[in-house]
Amino acid sequence: MLYKAPTMAIVAAVPLQGESDLSGNSGAIQEFDVLVVGAGFGGLAMLHKLRDELGYRVRVIEAGSGPGGTWYWNRYPGARCDVESLQYSMSFSDELQQEWEWTERFAAQPDILAYAEFAIERLDMAKDIDFGRRATSAVFDEEAGNWTLETDTGESYRARWLVMAAGPLSTPNFPSFPGLENFKGEVYHSGAWPADPVSFMGKRVAQIGTGSSGIQIAPMIAKDADQLYLMQRTASHTVPARNRPLRPGEQEQIKAHYNDYRASWKETIGATLWSSIVPDEKIVAYEKSALEVGEEERRAVFERAWAFGGYALHRSFKDILSIPEASDLVNAFIREKIAEVVKDPKTAELLTPKHYYGVKRVILDTDYYEIFNRPNVTLVDVKSDPIVEMTETGVKTWDGFYEVDMIVLATGFDAMTGSLIRMNIRGRGGRVLGDDWKDGPRTYLGIMATGFPNMFMIGGPQSCSALANVITANEQQADWIAECIAHCDERKIATIETTDEAQDGWVNHVNELADKTIFTKGDSWYLGSNIPGKPRAFLLYAGGFPAYKQHCEAIAAKGYEGFVLSAAG
Ligand code: FAD
Ligand code: NAP
Repeated sequence: MLYKAPTMAIVAAVPLQGESDLSGNSGAIQEFDVLVVGAGFGGLAMLHKLRDELGYRVRVIEAGSGPGGTWYWNRYPGARCDVESLQYSMSFSDELQQEWEWTERFAAQPDILAYAEFAIERLDMAKDIDFGRRATSAVFDEEAGNWTLETDTGESYRARWLVMAAGPLSTPNFPSFPGLENFKGEVYHSGAWPADPVSFMGKRVAQIGTGSSGIQIAPMIAKDADQLYLMQRTASHTVPARNRPLRPGEQEQIKAHYNDYRASWKETIGATLWSSIVPDEKIVAYEKSALEVGEEERRAVFERAWAFGGYALHRSFKDILSIPEASDLVNAFIREKIAEVVKDPKTAELLTPKHYYGVKRVILDTDYYEIFNRPNVTLVDVKSDPIVEMTETGVKTWDGFYEVDMIVLATGFDAMTGSLIRMNIRGRGGRVLGDDWKDGPRTYLGIMATGFPNMFMIGGPQSCSALANVITANEQQADWIAECIAHCDERKIATIETTDEAQDGWVNHVNELADKTIFTKGDSWYLGSNIPGKPRAFLLYAGGFPAYKQHCEAIAAKGYEGFVLSAAG
């Protein structure tokens, strides 16, 4: 089946809209057991678990015209996963994990999207997904104990259970650059990239943003464009992905023992092994501190990790992400690596990150530093010379003007809370989720929020989500939620909701964990500081996937401790 893809070029700071290609308001409220918002990998896991394993009537509402979520919207050239494909994959269906063939160490966006499409066909999921409909509101009826959901196409749905699988990184951030609407050229956002091919050939392009998306797309623009002005506010830490085709036998080896491998990956902090394809090679010295070894040994470990690529460097020493002094050592190593590649010393210095390694997400790239030796690439430091406005013909900074044919915004997302807050979600007494979270999100386990009974979140704030292999993290939450729903139904429980005490305890725990990490020692989307006016709060659970999973399991085993379960009537 072919799914209709995004076709729009984003012209200005418009809210992200799905394509409402399914017209028609039937008038009647459609009734289900469970409503799921989002058909990314989280929504698909939830649908499978509830429908195929537990027999629930489920309807998934999805703004896009096809499945895949992130991989449906982020079609920019160069997009690929940074968790190895064999690990960044769904585990809940053995047919899927055996039949789908990955071709590269890190799969490209078209492959991951094709994989999502393959999954829904193979598991006959499309019939239970309403594509092209954006859920605009979800309101809890206290009397009836159910949720009513409305969409931008005028549909209404009702169900006792609501699962928000709306995505951790699904609301693009459009900074309010004055005059953007006057720009006469093409404008694209990495997070809402059109399906129709975008040509950079012969064009002058201004790209704003050098996070994960920006660093993937810049080499693709550089090779075709006449001129790329790469507008960098903060230099990122990026290491070579060293992507390559999978070699004969590598995939077969994993598939022969897939579940065992997955079980061992789940024991790691990020539910990800730094490499699944060469697990025995002694690349890293994970159990040691970077400070306890001599200069020679440390350099040898760093060099091996750099040469191997991927997140080997991340895992090179146990304290890289926790101790500033260890982080300084990696920074010094990366500075040397940049200087080895980038010929112009001033550009090399600008590209050298000044913050601790890991404060912002570390990126995997393909030939990123190399582009700065090309005559058609200029690095523009928009920290010292900020963007002032867009004109009809280009980008104006304090000190300069860059005449361009195209502007590419790789400016990230309103992460973790953006998609939830943008929906009008109303719980008990009409309380609005966005109001409750005005000083930062408050949840229990990142799965539920006080005052919003029977509403669960997958990839919600204060869960592991984007600090782990997100497909695995999503599946763990989907399993937990499905078991919770079944537990309630077996006992004729009408509503389940969290207590304020349990929620306060979780919020404190999340903050205490975050304070012990390097993540809180700078600015990033992890803290919401990429969005002007967003309250500064650490948005993820930093205790690692195994600890998070244990918390969830222990709470369920104690009869859903911290939740109030109320019987029908
Ligand atoms: P999504 O895939 O974001 O799906 C959520 C869906 O909900 C979307 O399709 C959206 O349209 C829909 N939706 C939202 N609001 C509404 C609404 N109101 N009504 C209807 N539909 C709605 N993670 C990794 O672990 N490894 C990686 O390598 C990796 N690479 C990434 C690369 C990019 C470019 C980005 C942006 C993120 C990446 N991530 C990665 C994180 C990624 O978001 C997750 O891995 C995963 O795809 C999230 O799945 P999801 O189902 O939770 O959310
Ligand atoms: P991001 O990491 O938030 O990066 C956004 C970039 O835009 C930053 O360089 C930021 O600068 C810049 N920016 C934002 N507003 C700006 C403004 N007004 N003026 C100038 N510059 C501005 O977003 P992202 O790159 O889309 O990545 C988000 C997350 O998605 C990643 O952290 C990762 O989790 C996921 N992702 C993964 C991959 C992958 O490799 N698999 C690829 C893409 C995305 P500052 O740093 O100064 O704020």
